Amino acid sequence: MRSVVLCFSGLDPSGGAGLQADIEAIGQAGAHAAIACTAVTIQNSQQVFGFEACSASLVKNQATAVLDDLPVSVIKSGMLGTTDNIAMLTRLFAEQIIPAETPFVLDPVLVANSGGSLGDEQTLVTAFRELLPYATLITPNTHELRALSGEQDLHIGARKLCTQGTHAVLVKTSHDFDSGDIKQYLYIKGEMVHKSVLPRLAGEFHGSGCSLASFIAGRLAMGDALIEAVKAADSWITQTLRAADAPHPDNANAQLIPNRFVEF
Ligand code: PLP
Repeated sequence: MRSVVLCFSGLDPSGGAGLQADIEAIGQAGAHAAIACTAVTIQNSQQVFGFEACSASLVKNQATAVLDDLPVSVIKSGMLGTTDNIAMLTRLFAEQIIPAETPFVLDPVLVANSGGSLGDEQTLVTAFRELLPYATLITPNTHELRALSGEQDLHIGARKLCTQGTHAVLVKTSHDFDSGDIKQYLYIKGEMVHKSVLPRLAGEFHGSGCSLASFIAGRLAMGDALIEAVKAADSWITQTLRAADAPHPDNANAQLIPNRFVEF
């Protein structure tokens, strides 16, 4: 069968972010997405109204059912929602229920693009510190990088996370809306190995971070080296955003939904 990426991610009923973004992005990368659902959120393209997290045992049982059955070649995580879920995923790695050599793309989701809460930020940050050493790649925006590393400077923060065990860090300035073009810096083992500058398109996007991380996970599952997967994701994500759908064209606060089925 196609290469399989097992995702730990939440449901966004608008279909812009979360597990739907994962399924579509990984499919477009040529791989198959399997999902262990971590939470059901209540949100639309404009705001988050709340969420209910799945219990850690429910998430674990979904994941182990897949791991016992499908040839999972990459793990991806997005919204985990609770410290229990982060600790459970950490144990799956620590106890080798997920084999140690399995590449793991960790999108350290703390808050939604719209600013809505997707968990208690401070406790999530503390729990993430135990999970980060298992990550092949983490894909923080600048807010997440600063929260996880405790550093204001992006480059110092990225290098620090590498020294704490994460293999690679892709920092994105996509959520710094007054920063001009979007810059992405890829650090592997503390060295910057790639920098990209992407045009900042008008509007805000719902699910762009999930889509980018999942496309990279999908390309890794298809055999790309990390740097190739990141470059391929850069050009793909730009096209999905250029073709994004505006649910409320007259509402300046509404976020656009990436069109992940764009030709590329
Ligand atoms: N996962 C879920 C379930 C979400 O609802 C969101 C945002 O709303 C995210 C992840 C992160 O989304 P983004 O890719 O916009 O950072």
